[in-house]
Amino acid sequence: MRIFDPHIHMTSRTTDDYESMYVAGVRAVVEPAFWLGQPRTSVGSFIDYFDGLVGWEPFRAAQFGIRHHCTVALNPKEANDPRCAGVLDVLPRYLAKDGVVAVGEVGYDSMTPEEDEAFARQLAMAIEADLPALVHTPHRDKHAGTLRTLDVVKESGIPPERVVVDHLNELTVRPVLEAGCWMAFSIYPDTKMDERRMVQILREYGTERMLVNSAADWGRSDPLKTRATGEAMLAAGFGEDDVDAVLWHNPVAFFGQSGRLDLTASEIDATATFEGNSIQRGGRDRRSGGREQDSGRDQRSGGRDQDGARAG
Ligand SMILES: [Zn+2]
Repeated sequence: MRIFDPHIHMTSRTTDDYESMYVAGVRAVVEPAFWLGQPRTSVGSFIDYFDGLVGWEPFRAAQFGIRHHCTVALNPKEANDPRCAGVLDVLPRYLAKDGVVAVGEVGYDSMTPEEDEAFARQLAMAIEADLPALVHTPHRDKHAGTLRTLDVVKESGIPPERVVVDHLNELTVRPVLEAGCWMAFSIYPDTKMDERRMVQILREYGTERMLVNSAADWGRSDPLKTRATGEAMLAAGFGEDDVDAVLWHNPVAFFGQSGRLDLTASEIDATATFEGNSIQRGGRDRRSGGREQDSGRDQRSGGRDQDGARAG
């Protein structure tokens, strides 16, 4: 099973996650810029975060055999904080970068006038930069929020096939389908959508324009929910082609509209560095063979202490 997770916040995840995702079949991801759980107090914090999304995190992912892309935006929640308003001025510079495959997450959190303004302006930026848009729907008042979202998308003039509306459920899928946008579903461990409900939605609405993601972040979430959904599809009688359509072809087709997807297999080079830093630690860094061979080499080279001195 090959998997493209089109919405996962890897900055908040561990190396164990990257390893288990690779084993599960994940070969590519999109990491949308989002809210970090506590308010940022200046535009500079966003700049460093965006730089990480186009720099360090793709490097880190590649070391685990996974291609990483991102979307950048002022997220709906922080659109309400006047200290963050200047983010809209630095966005065009990031929308020009190679690893950026959409504007997002944009949309509504509490549906305030400030969110209206940031949402509309960023959809205009997506048109200007010739990029698709990833639209978050509010977790509270989801149905009304989704309808209002679709109105704003329509007013913006962005073609609906260049918009994915995310965090959908049984109640919000139909209007998005009818609007011609792509439909995305975040599969969570114990609340909101789960893989069983997802399979029912795929049965009812088909696999076209459907995306499934884990939305894994710093909260209770599971980066392997994409794989779990693929398995639930197979168990429910879907074919391998259907699973491949939902978990691979659809995200490739949607984000491929950016012209910037890189899906070549990543060569894992344990000696690679990013601005002088590697993901390796201590005495394990140059190991390539089996354990016995390595322990021999450790003795010859002085082992862990010597290697442990390296920074990074
Ligand atoms: Zn998210």
